[in-house]
Amino acid sequence: MEAKKLESFRKKLIEMRNEILKGIIEDNQELIGLKEESGQISEEYDMASTLLETEMKEQLEENDLNMLKEINEALNRINSGTYGKCSECGEEISEDRLDFLPFTNKCEKCAKKR
Ligand SMILES: [Zn+2]
Repeated sequence: MEAKKLESFRKKLIEMRNEILKGIIEDNQELIGLKEESGQISEEYDMASTLLETEMKEQLEENDLNMLKEINEALNRINSGTYGKCSECGEEISEDRLDFLPFTNKCEKCAKKR
């Protein structure tokens, strides 16, 4: 892949990562805000906030953390020069697909197999 193209995918991935991180920080600020409003923490409130945090963590793990992991791995592949190659069959992933899913490590054919 051309260096220029690679650079534009790198930028896109970093932007995506920043967006996710921003979302995580905003979610956490909401939680922090809730805590401050409540003043004295009652037992009831404490339970509710623990529940909320657990729920949030689970959601993060499912969506954002997976996404962050995939983005980081894609950035690593750019650094090591293997970006744009399918991890299953070793063929080049089409640029159309990378435009749509810049963090993917599978070509269309291999992604469909699962
Ligand atoms: Zn493949």
